[in-house]
Amino acid sequence: MPEGPSVRKFHHLVSTFVGQQVLKTGGSSKKLCPATLQSLWLQDTQVHGKKLFLRFDADAEGEGEGGAPGGSHQHLEPLRKTARKEAAGDPAPEASGQKTAADGSFQSMELLPRGPGDSSDLAGDSPLPGAQQWLQVSFGLFGSIWANEFSRAKKANKRGDWRDPVPRLVLYFDGGGFLAFYNCQMSWSPTPVVEPHRDILSEEFHRGQALEALGQPQPVCYTLLDQRYFSGLGNIIKNEALYRARIHPLSLGSLLTSPCLETLVDHVVAFSAEWLQGKFQGQPRHTQVYQKEQCPSGHQVLREVLGPPGGLQRLTWWCPQCQPRVPPEETPQHQS
Ligand SMILES: [Zn+2]
Repeated sequence: MPEGPSVRKFHHLVSTFVGQQVLKTGGSSKKLCPATLQSLWLQDTQVHGKKLFLRFDADAEGEGEGGAPGGSHQHLEPLRKTARKEAAGDPAPEASGQKTAADGSFQSMELLPRGPGDSSDLAGDSPLPGAQQWLQVSFGLFGSIWANEFSRAKKANKRGDWRDPVPRLVLYFDGGGFLAFYNCQMSWSPTPVVEPHRDILSEEFHRGQALEALGQPQPVCYTLLDQRYFSGLGNIIKNEALYRARIHPLSLGSLLTSPCLETLVDHVVAFSAEWLQGKFQGQPRHTQVYQKEQCPSGHQVLREVLGPPGGLQRLTWWCPQCQPRVPPEETPQHQS
């Protein structure tokens, strides 16, 4: 599941297209209807935790109510009005992939299975006419965004076919580039609420609020995944931060010392920031316990599905020696 750092990388890819107009659309999403994005201008993009937002306007001015506070417009490039002329001559998009892109990439979209199973990209029908339109993108378990290239098949499927993944949405921009969205859930949304104090990758991340949440009398591994306090934090960051802080995932937050919880928050922030930086430098992600057999000290790593009753259950890795449980696990009493 893409976590905060991955979504930031997608945000970076998208932000290079801000100020450009959508000339052509493609993609398999029936719910979203990619053609509704035709000729709109991408005027802003924001990332909040694991969610990405793209703002489309009907005109190049990008005027209207509801812009996010905090100067979200400041990075907009000068708008490119000249491109509108070219766009006017562009034929309207056909509905069902009859159109073929210059590189033939659209052809594969017709191979897409479009049964009732393809219902994961829930969305409203179309945006409000004339209004600013925010497209919310969630990445689920396997979502991704590619810029100026399509994802290719990494292996053959069960039938032995090498079939490339089919993007749900493709946006071709007047600058000549394109964005392809894979396995994303997309829907039109109200103006996103900006809450950087919850976002683990924001400079405004509110440590005090996070520490207070961690101090609850529940296993810390539950609290870490709570997006109300740790927006952008996912299972990988959870496992790695707990290992680095030497905290057992089922330790009760209320029984851990303040310095201990401080250390945990430090590692959450540091690991997330390093991961993000590594992404931009093309480095592979480096984990110490996540999906590992042994911890760096050579101990056997345990794994178990953990989560609050009725809540999100996630496979969790930890080292029982490096991460002792607080309070210690009860040992069965043998009575004779
Ligand atoms: Zn260990």
